[in-house]
Amino acid sequence: MPKKKPLIILKIGGSVITDRKDERPRLRGPRMRRLAREVNEGWQPGRSRLVIIHGAGSYGHPIVQRTGIHHGIHDEHQRKAMGETQRLQSDLNAHVVRHLLQAGVPAFPCQPSASAVMEAGELVSLDTEALEGLLSIGIVPVLNGVPAFDRRQGCSILSGDQTAGFLFRRLGGDSILHGTDVKGIYTADPTQDPGAELCTVVDLLDSAGLPDGVTGSTVTDVTGGMRKKLEEMRTAGARGQVFDATVKGNVSRVLQGEIVGTRIECA
Ligand code: ADP
Repeated sequence: MPKKKPLIILKIGGSVITDRKDERPRLRGPRMRRLAREVNEGWQPGRSRLVIIHGAGSYGHPIVQRTGIHHGIHDEHQRKAMGETQRLQSDLNAHVVRHLLQAGVPAFPCQPSASAVMEAGELVSLDTEALEGLLSIGIVPVLNGVPAFDRRQGCSILSGDQTAGFLFRRLGGDSILHGTDVKGIYTADPTQDPGAELCTVVDLLDSAGLPDGVTGSTVTDVTGGMRKKLEEMRTAGARGQVFDATVKGNVSRVLQGEIVGTRIECA
């Protein structure tokens, strides 16, 4: 068997590809077009395998917050809301995949909720055989944050950040590259504290734990924000970086191995 190429997991935050303050589901089209071009420029298929995962942004957080399906399913209204939430995510995923294909990336939509099983909000199983097969033939699977079946409460939200960690562990990832709307990890939430300082590196296994100033998100957020991203990476034993994907050129640069944000170590 030939040795498998290293696996890169690129997570693009919902706040990058949508306006998280907008209650309506709307893609930032021009930005997505640029990001897709950058993936095509930066990724070297001969050197690595690539999985792309994107967040939900305004396609997900408002409807979930409004209907409460992240706490479980209790009535007919919520059953329909679960379906509608997934439909919206499939819509967003189709836009993302279309842009990637138009840019020349061999992207393929993969719906995690078709096989994901959650338990009290944690992902316990996800079928990855097809995913590995797709990677082996040079395809770039594109997954996203979704509502998913939960053994305990009927439904919970499987975030892109959780899926990134799970796949890193299961498939033996090389790095998780978190594209967000901030330059990296700061000593405090930079959108709230103008004195927050950017960290060059964060060691997830530091005995002092994660920096206190790493918190959730200030906009409607049902998936835990920056803190949860780092917790998921620590559980997975993942290294990588958190960087600003809204800055032109950054996606292309990180795919070529450059550090443009905060390096995350876990060793
Ligand atoms: P996305 O939806 O794009 O995945 P999130 O909203 O979940 O992103 O997380 C990014 C947000 O985390 C930033 O916009 C910022 O407001 C917040 N955040 C909280 N604490 C920190 C911190 N210490 N450093 C950087 N960002 C932080």
